[in-house]
Amino acid sequence: MSYNGKVLFGDESLFSLKSENTNNPLAIKDASYLDNAATTAPCPEALAAMAEALQFNWGNPSSPHEHGYRAERLLEESRQTIASALNCKSEELYFTSGGTESNNIAVFGAARALKRRGKRIVVSGIEHSSVGDAAKALQEEGFELLVLEPDSSGIIPLNRLEEAIDAKTVLVSLMTANNETGAIQPIEKVRALVEAAQAPALIHTDAVQTFGKMRLSPQKLGVDLMSVSAHKLHGPKGVGALYVKKGLKLPSLFFGGSQEGRLRPGTQPLPAIAGFAAAVKALPDPESEAARQATLRARLTESLVELDGLHINSPENALPGLINFSLIGYFSDHIINHLSGLKVYISGGSACAKGEKSKVLAQMGLSQELIKSAVRVSFSRFTQNRDIDNLLEGLKSVKENLLKY
Ligand code: PLP
Repeated sequence: MSYNGKVLFGDESLFSLKSENTNNPLAIKDASYLDNAATTAPCPEALAAMAEALQFNWGNPSSPHEHGYRAERLLEESRQTIASALNCKSEELYFTSGGTESNNIAVFGAARALKRRGKRIVVSGIEHSSVGDAAKALQEEGFELLVLEPDSSGIIPLNRLEEAIDAKTVLVSLMTANNETGAIQPIEKVRALVEAAQAPALIHTDAVQTFGKMRLSPQKLGVDLMSVSAHKLHGPKGVGALYVKKGLKLPSLFFGGSQEGRLRPGTQPLPAIAGFAAAVKALPDPESEAARQATLRARLTESLVELDGLHINSPENALPGLINFSLIGYFSDHIINHLSGLKVYISGGSACAKGEKSKVLAQMGLSQELIKSAVRVSFSRFTQNRDIDNLLEGLKSVKENLLKY
C-alpha cells in the first residue's frame, strides 16, 4: 500500500506508486483494470482519510469524552458529505457494511413493516442476489413473490410492473442499473404505478452500480429506500449506506446498541466510513464523467463491431462505463484468462456469481452460444484510452491464439 508517496507494505515490483495508465496508486504496473463493476481500487483521497482516522481518530463515536466527540464529529461530517452527494438529509442515511447488507435490511424491513397491509412483493428477475434471495426467503414467511423478467434489451418493461403491482403490494424493488449489462431501469416510473394501484408499497432501489456514475436523488426517483456501497466508487470494502425516507421506521434484522438508529447496531467502522466520504468527495461531476466514459465506450465499440463474431449484449443507452459482449466461438473463462495473462482484467457476468452462467442474459432471451461467450468490461474515473487499446489488442490476441470451442 502506498500512502503519501511511501510504500507501507506490499510488493513494489507488482504495485507501482503511480501507475502510468490509471494514475491510481494501487494499480498493477502497466495493467488495464477493467473490472470496476466488481470493485474499484481505493483512491488516494480515501486511503489518506482512512489512514488518518485509523491513527488519529480511533475513538468510539458513542463515547462520552474527547475521543468520542471527535469520532462522532467525523462520523457525522462523513454522513453529511455522502448525504449531500445523494441529495438527501443526513438523518435519512444509515451506515451499513455494504450493498448486500443495505439490500437485506431494506427488503426484509419493508416487507415486515407492512405485513399487515398486504403480502405481495414485486422484484425484478435481474436483481443482485442480496435482493433476489432475500425476497425468496420472504416467501417462507408467507409473502407472495412476483419476479419480473426483462425484455431483450435487459430492461424491465413498465407494463409488467403495472400488471404486477396490486393494492396488496407492500414492496417493489427495482435496481437503478444492472450490474451485468449496465441497463438503466425505469425506477422513476414506479411511484406512479404504486399510486395508481393504491398500494401501500415501499419502493426500494439498489443503486450500488450507479452511485458516482449518475446524479441520484431518492426524492426525484420517488423511492423510499436506496442502497449504496463504497467499494464501487473507489472507497473501501465493507462499508455502504441505506437511504431511508424521513419518517419511515423499519424493523431491524439485528439486535444490539443504538447506533444507526438501531437499524444497524454495532460500533461504526469510522476509518472505512471516512474513506467512503473521502471517495465520494473526490468523485468527478457525474455528467462530465459520464460524457468522458461515453467517449471511451465509443472508442471500444467502434473497433469491437469490426471483430468477427462479436455481439454487444448491453443496450445502447446503458451506463456508459459498463458493457457486456460476446465473442462467439470462445468460452468466457478462456477469454478472461487469456486477457488476464496480458494484464487486461475483465470479468464474465457478476463477481458474486463466479463461474455460473448468467441468469440475466438468459432472461433477456440470449442464445446459449452468446451466454457462454459473454464477458463484462467496466470503467472507472481512472480508465484511459490506453486501457481500451490494451483490451482491443488483447481481444485480437484471443482470436489469433485461442482455439475455438
Ligand atoms: N448490488 C449490486 C447491483 C452489486 O453489483 C453489488 C456488488 O457486486 C452488490 C449489490 C453488493 O454490494 P457489496 O459488495 O457492497 O455487498
